[in-house]
Amino acid sequence: MRKLFFLSMLLAPLCLLAQRTVIYCGQLIDTKNMKALNNMTIIVEGNIITDVVAGFATAAKTDKVIDLKNKTVMPGWMDMHVHVEEETNPNIYMERFTANPPDIAFQSLRYVDRTLMAGFTTVRDLGGTGVNISLRNAINKGYVKGPRIFTAGKSIATTGGHADPTNGYRKNLMGDPGPENGVVNGPDDCMKAVRQRYKDGSDLIKITASGGVLSVAKSGENPQFTEAEIKAIVSTAKDYGFKVAAHCHGAEAMKRAVRAGVNSIEHGTFMDDETMDLMKQYGTYYVPTITAGKGVGDSARKPGYYPEVVAKKAIAIGPKIQSTFAKAYKAGVKIAFGTDAGVYAHGRNWLEFVYMNEVGMPVLEAIKTATVNAADLLGVSDILGTIEKGKLADIIALDGDPQKDVQSFSRVKFVMKDGVVYKNE
Ligand SMILES: [Zn+2]
Repeated sequence: MRKLFFLSMLLAPLCLLAQRTVIYCGQLIDTKNMKALNNMTIIVEGNIITDVVAGFATAAKTDKVIDLKNKTVMPGWMDMHVHVEEETNPNIYMERFTANPPDIAFQSLRYVDRTLMAGFTTVRDLGGTGVNISLRNAINKGYVKGPRIFTAGKSIATTGGHADPTNGYRKNLMGDPGPENGVVNGPDDCMKAVRQRYKDGSDLIKITASGGVLSVAKSGENPQFTEAEIKAIVSTAKDYGFKVAAHCHGAEAMKRAVRAGVNSIEHGTFMDDETMDLMKQYGTYYVPTITAGKGVGDSARKPGYYPEVVAKKAIAIGPKIQSTFAKAYKAGVKIAFGTDAGVYAHGRNWLEFVYMNEVGMPVLEAIKTATVNAADLLGVSDILGTIEKGKLADIIALDGDPQKDVQSFSRVKFVMKDGVVYKNE
């Protein structure tokens, strides 16, 4: 007994030491200094990066060694605009009447799995039914596999606005949803809706400041909040440490949202010069979602895929986003990577890198939008966005060099999130 006691005393401190993992990188993207470094070693202990050194450092016998000498290594990507609960299909409008929350929960497991395997270790969910909050918790507890989720819970809209969940319903089904369901009219409702999101367990606030493509409503760009309403949202959000993301296609809605102090403009399709100047002045991020724009444009051309009112908007708005992005980038607006995954198939988020690069953004800068800039927009730069001593071990690796072949963004072969290896091919 006594002997065992001493033995366990001796072993106890060893057990407290986290496993040391030594990762050899052929090429390592330094997202802070925007450089590609050759032959580097990353040391990970538990879920923390404890060192990054030049050359291939010698590993101790007890270390776990991961050999990525023929790969390009970088921080895990962060997509600032996804919808983890759903994925585009021609029956999606019917599913609102047939899917129960558990159905949504089970189908979302496949979407988050694909997202993580594609190299996206963090996502910002910009609106669903609330299942997204439970899913975030389940992933954090390790019950299911998926990226780290920051979620808005249910989006906030005005009556008949883009995220009014009863748009297009028969009148007796429509009812008159209120702040609890994310539908507001006037500053008091706005305050209540933000507080309700806090109570629900959201991490941030999403509003639909203008019309949108996929809602069953006529305009895809009209302003749908007054500036006073957005100000009430932003100031209440600040009380709870929430950032605010604003979906906008029309310029008037964008100007109101930027002046009211939102943190990001989503889609931004009809952004004009005045809006870009305002965004630079206020330091507002632009999250383009080019991939979704192209995706809805393609789907709208398939007969019967969308209701007619939606198809018209999809063709008018979707394909324009890429050129808006090009203009905003050249004008010096801050860009954070976001794709609106769910509006197109989850797991193809990497396409956004290709589309950004296609119209003039260099590859390293595109990577920066999905790492350093995204972490800044989320307010987590202290723990994510770079591979540096003290940061969380979110590390991915691809076959090939994306600076030479942009298609290598599709070839993610290694994924580590929070120190755990999820993929190593
Ligand atoms: Zn969206």
